[in-house]
Amino acid sequence: MEKSIFQIPFKVLKRYRFYKRSQFRTKSQIEYFQDEQLKKLICHAGRNVPYYRKLFKKTGFNIEGFRGRVDMDKIPTLDKEVVRTQQKELLADNAGKFGITWDSTSGSTGTPLHFVLDDNVQANKIAALLRSYKWAGYKLGKKTFSLQSYYFQDHDYKYNRFYNILRFDSNKLKKSSAIKAIKEINRFKPEFFMGFPFDILMLRRFAEEEGIEIHSPRSIVTYGETLSKKKREFLEKAYNCKVFDFFSLHECAAMISECEHGNLHLIEDFAFHEVLEEGKLVGTSFYNYAMPLIRYEIGDNIVLDNVSKKCECGRNFRIVKEIVGKQCDYIETSDGRLLGSVMSHSIDNAKGVICSQCIQNSTDRIDINLVIDDSFNESSRIALEKGLKKRLGNNIELNFKFVSQLEKKASGKTPFIISRIGNEYL
Ligand SMILES: [Zn+2]
Repeated sequence: MEKSIFQIPFKVLKRYRFYKRSQFRTKSQIEYFQDEQLKKLICHAGRNVPYYRKLFKKTGFNIEGFRGRVDMDKIPTLDKEVVRTQQKELLADNAGKFGITWDSTSGSTGTPLHFVLDDNVQANKIAALLRSYKWAGYKLGKKTFSLQSYYFQDHDYKYNRFYNILRFDSNKLKKSSAIKAIKEINRFKPEFFMGFPFDILMLRRFAEEEGIEIHSPRSIVTYGETLSKKKREFLEKAYNCKVFDFFSLHECAAMISECEHGNLHLIEDFAFHEVLEEGKLVGTSFYNYAMPLIRYEIGDNIVLDNVSKKCECGRNFRIVKEIVGKQCDYIETSDGRLLGSVMSHSIDNAKGVICSQCIQNSTDRIDINLVIDDSFNESSRIALEKGLKKRLGNNIELNFKFVSQLEKKASGKTPFIISRIGNEYL
C-alpha cells in the first residue's frame, strides 16, 4: 500500500515547494533538470541494482559516459514481464536506506505486478498530484466528493471530516445506493468530484432515470480510464462544469495532467517520458531509487501535440493531444451493481498470472481467462478467487479458463473486461 501524506508530511511539503516553483521553468531549464536527474539515476542503477549491473555489462553500456536524455535509447526498454518475474533483481542492494513499501497493481492489463516504491518517490507523487489538482482549482480541505474503491464494510459512502471529503465506495455502485449518495451530495454541495469517468457518469444517469437533480461541482477530476472525447463532452454537459483529466500509474513511471487551459501536459519534473513507435508511452521516474524502473513500457499509447505549440498557462511541459487505451466494458452483478475500471486491482495478488481478462456471459457467471506460467498453483487460484469475490460478491460463479492468448476485440484491443450481456450504459 502506498503511504499517505501523513506518514511522510515533511517530505511532501518540501517536494510541494519544489513543484510549485518548477512548473514555470523554461524549456532548457526543464531539459537540464531531466539530464541531471537521469545521470544520477542511471549511475545509481548501474552500481546498486543487480538487474541493471548485469544488463549494462552485457550490452557494454558505460554509465560514466552517459549524458542524459540523448543517451536514453542506448538502454533497452523494460517490460512488465521483467518486473513480474525479476522483481528481486530490480531491487537496489541499498534499497533499505530509501524506505521500502511494497505495492501491487494489475492496472488495465490484468497483469499482476509487485514492486517497491521508496519514500522519496511517494512524496514526489503526492506533491506532484496536489499541484496537478490545484490546476483544477482543488486544495486540501475543499469540499470534495470522491468515488473510489474504498472497501467500506457497512457503508456505501462515508464523510471524512478531516479531508472534508464525501467518499463513495465504487464497488457498491448501483442505482439504490447511488440515489442515496446523490441526496447526500445535494446536501453537501461539493466543489469537486473525483473518480473514474464511468462511475461519475453513472451517477448522473441514475439521477436522470429517477427524475432527480444532481448538484453541479466547480470541476471534475477524472482518472483511471481513458476519457474519450465523447465521454468528456457528456460529463461536462451533464454536470455543467469543466472536466480535468489526469493520468498516472502505481509504478510512478509517468504522469499526465490537464491544466487550466484544457491542455494535457506531460509532468516532466516528475518523470522522463518517451513516445516510441505507434505512440507507445515509455516512462522513467526520477525518484524511485529503491527500485528504479528505467524506460518502463506503460502499456498505453499517447499522441503528442506539435512541439512548437505553446500553452497559454505558461508551462513548458510538452502537450499531449490524446491518451489512447485503458478502456473496458463493465460487469453487471445480479444485485445491480456496475463495476468498470474499479475491477482492475482485483487480481493483484495472483502469483503466476501473466495476464488475465474477465468475460461476462450472464449476471451470475464470469469466465476468467488466464495466461499463466509454472509458478501458478492452488494458492494463486485461491488468491484470485478471493480478490474477485471481494469486489463481485459471493453470488457470482467464477469459471477459470487457462488460455494461451486473451480475447481481442474487433479493434485489436485486449480489454480487461468484455461484456456479452450488453453494456447499455457505455
Ligand atoms: Zn497548459
